[in-house]
Amino acid sequence: MLEIVETSAKAQLFIEQEEQFGAHNYHPLPVVLSKGEGVHVWDVDGKKYFDFLSGYSAVNQGHCHPKIVAALVEQASKLTLTSRAFYNDLLGGYEHFMTQLFGYDKLLPMNTGVEAVETAIKLARKWAYEVKGVPENDAVVLVCKQNFHGRTINVISFSSDPTARKNFGPFIPGYLSIPYNDLDTLREAVKDKNVSAFLVEPIQGEAGVMVPDDGYLAEAFAICKAANVLFIADEIQTGLARTGKMLACDYENVHPDILILGKALSGGVMPISAVLTNDEIMLTIKPGEHGSTYGGNPLACKVAMAAMQVLIDENLAENAMKLGKYFREGLNAMKGAHISKVRGKGLLNAIVIDHPNKDAAWELCMALRDNGLLAKPTHGHIIRLAPPLVISKAQIDDCLEIIRKTLLAFSA
Ligand code: PLP
Repeated sequence: MLEIVETSAKAQLFIEQEEQFGAHNYHPLPVVLSKGEGVHVWDVDGKKYFDFLSGYSAVNQGHCHPKIVAALVEQASKLTLTSRAFYNDLLGGYEHFMTQLFGYDKLLPMNTGVEAVETAIKLARKWAYEVKGVPENDAVVLVCKQNFHGRTINVISFSSDPTARKNFGPFIPGYLSIPYNDLDTLREAVKDKNVSAFLVEPIQGEAGVMVPDDGYLAEAFAICKAANVLFIADEIQTGLARTGKMLACDYENVHPDILILGKALSGGVMPISAVLTNDEIMLTIKPGEHGSTYGGNPLACKVAMAAMQVLIDENLAENAMKLGKYFREGLNAMKGAHISKVRGKGLLNAIVIDHPNKDAAWELCMALRDNGLLAKPTHGHIIRLAPPLVISKAQIDDCLEIIRKTLLAFSA
């Protein structure tokens, strides 16, 4: 069995401090990080790791990317927050840049991912009442089972994860949950004239990197169009080059009615999210009806533009596509050694662990940590493997070797 290395006394102090003074709403792997650069992070004892979580895909551009940090530092000493009570000299340019890049009329800036999801749902409801003609308070948004869209009361109202919901009720009505990757059920569901939107992750990340069948997104989009239902893509995790294209929807030439972005929109530097859509939908929201103190702040605008420029200039989508394929080939070659499935697109990948020990995925992540690679199990038996997209082929080879070596020790 695996020999797990004891956490150092120094690291233990930080862990105990969090344990004592912080809420217990996470269960982190016992490693205390104090530095990051590119694909690497270092712990408080100076040990270096490959980061295969990338801040849940927020750090696509790599840790502390010099161009993103430079933008942050430059703007931080100039102007950080104006609130939307006044105009600032960056928001308009940022909105222009993003709408041109993604092909929409307008952008609404928010901060965290879940706020952008909330925004998209508010837009879908407004549009339902004011454009589609759904009777007031009757709008329904279709969502998928096993979805993950964040943690607010509204968003967990349509989660199918009992842990996310238990004792947080009462929940918010207006949602109908249908199976993911099931077009027939979607076709039936949109027959209800009160259905205003279909909210979907192009790949279900938190569910364990569930990749739908080829053609699912394109056909789901067509079904929505035929029924005058908005297609909302939550690309917070799948977007911004992670899956090998700028958006995962690009694989099927789907241009969502509402696009939700977050995470890597800042390259991991600060919370920045955005909702993009066209005038018919965006202009249903009028002054005073929605907003956020920090949304659209000049610091965020500057950082987001720099983060986007890095994705483009460094061809990170292409790198993710090419190295993702290569990485999965390497993982597939290890199948059998406690790996029953390998799935993913680009550099958003997961392995399914097949082992009688129900803590096997956790123990494997502990052993990977000891061997210099950080990853985290999801749903007990799945390990997501999602390095920063700046990773090189030689580094992927090193990482495959770490995984191979760790799995071998697991079998011994
Ligand atoms: N939507 C998706 C698809 C996500 O993966 C996440 C976070 O993992 C969110 C929404 C929520 O984002 P945040 O944690 O920034 O609120």
